[in-house]
Amino acid sequence: MSHPPQLHVATYHYVRDLPRTKFPQIKGMLLDDFRRQVQALPDVYEMATLESAMAFLSGKYTPRRDLCLMTFDDGLREHYAEVTPILAEQQIEGLFFLISGCMEDGVVAPVHMNHFLMAHLGFESYRAAFEATMGELGYGEQLKAHADPAVFQRTYPLDTREVARFKYLFNFMLAPQIRDLAVKTLFAKYLGDETSFGRELYLNWNEAREMQRAGMMIGGHTHEHRPLATLRYPELFRDLTRNWELIQKHLEPQAIWPFSYPYGKADSFNRNTVEILRQLGYRFALCTEPGNNLPGIDLFAIRRVDCKDILPKAPREPQLSHNMGTGVAQPTYGA
Ligand SMILES: [Zn+2]
Repeated sequence: MSHPPQLHVATYHYVRDLPRTKFPQIKGMLLDDFRRQVQALPDVYEMATLESAMAFLSGKYTPRRDLCLMTFDDGLREHYAEVTPILAEQQIEGLFFLISGCMEDGVVAPVHMNHFLMAHLGFESYRAAFEATMGELGYGEQLKAHADPAVFQRTYPLDTREVARFKYLFNFMLAPQIRDLAVKTLFAKYLGDETSFGRELYLNWNEAREMQRAGMMIGGHTHEHRPLATLRYPELFRDLTRNWELIQKHLEPQAIWPFSYPYGKADSFNRNTVEILRQLGYRFALCTEPGNNLPGIDLFAIRRVDCKDILPKAPREPQLSHNMGTGVAQPTYGA
């Protein structure tokens, strides 16, 4: 090995047989590609556990090869039904980050409503419908807000400029109450009952406990999946505390509790966020700033790479080879 060992952390969201689902346009990793990755990763890396990753980052463990940790955001049902058995068979420990509100209150996170409406209607029709609904609610002006292209393209690097701008407005700039009213109206109209949709989309507490027994680690991903840096302190405190309490109430004990920031870029969390997480008992937090990790890195700002970038590309393989045939690189992060 020509460089000191590093920790590589892969981020996964949707992992499903997309063409066979009701929403083939959802951006995610195909299950067969996932199976192939699970076979190939141990040839390239030493597969890490949360414990070995933390020992490495604090200088207490030196692996002979680079480490790889597999992480899954949003508590999607396929993480229980499909991903866990594949990892358990290979004795790989995955880290799974749950949105407690989706499990406890039967809600679908607006970020996911946005994905499924976009997949169902197509981007142009969905955007038009969303703009019309915001207009009917009297808030059409909010959609004309200036968003900095450098910021929204950095946040959504693999989306087209228009999709990136829309997602950025949706997730970071629109007033959440109004945006939620608009997206819930459209969701009810086109995709039906939120509670039953949510039950299919997310895993439940029983399933999360089963995953722990199969050797997986669970972590927090907030109660409502809001961009934490935009919340006022009391709201921030309430969300993180509720997430922590529900996880402690419903799950088996774990030696280490990890956390993953929604959206995850450096501007999506702040010092208050980290302080509250530490006070609650979290020991390790993952962002989505791209890159690998060396000992000494801040344990509350662990870098990750998109799951499609975790395996080294074969020589001379074209850059856009993982794109499911659309000619545009598809991001898999569920933001
Ligand atoms: Zn998320």
